[in-house]
Amino acid sequence: MAKGKIVVISGPSGCGKGTVIQELLKCDNRLKLSVSMTTRAPRPGEVNGREYFFTDEKEFKNRIQTGDLLEYTNYNGNYYGTPSKEMYEMQEKGYTILLDIEIEGAANVRKAAPENLLTIFLAPPSFEELERRLVGRGTETAEVIAKRLTRAKEELTEQDKYDYVVVNDDLDNTVKEIYRLIKQ
Ligand code: 5GP
Repeated sequence: MAKGKIVVISGPSGCGKGTVIQELLKCDNRLKLSVSMTTRAPRPGEVNGREYFFTDEKEFKNRIQTGDLLEYTNYNGNYYGTPSKEMYEMQEKGYTILLDIEIEGAANVRKAAPENLLTIFLAPPSFEELERRLVGRGTETAEVIAKRLTRAKEELTEQDKYDYVVVNDDLDNTVKEIYRLIKQ
């Protein structure tokens, strides 16, 4: 069986990545999300093993030491990383794996150069719209939002490094466009 694609989807916090990815997963049962490991606390409604594997810093550092992570980063004070074994196993079975990771992680995945890699940057229609969405979401404190917006500015400067940039101004169109890129 042919190996599946690995599709990195990055984009600043609040650009709608999570929603777009959930819609993509509904389109096609050959698409699978790689569940990352994080030391961030779960948000209300998040389930261990579904959105993330929630863990503490000691265990996370242990996973770094044992080489279990394809890539990892520290984002706004919390660690996030991609468990490699699960990802490669799903790829071997021919699934297309979606990685919802930020820019440093994407750069490290490019360096690790897995076969069949596609990278997509999801951009907000404007910085003001991003701010509006992040505040409206109501899941973060003002301090965390401010940090995420500062980080978003850095992230937006990295978009040229991706194979494709898709502007998320309409959910349906965005999902269709990304699905088309994945299938081409
Ligand atoms: P959040 O806390 O909003 O769930 O995620 C914060 C950021 O971390 C998002 O940009 C998300 O894409 C990124 N992220 C989630 N999992 C990983 C991972 O395994 N590795 C890296 N490098 N970034 C991740």
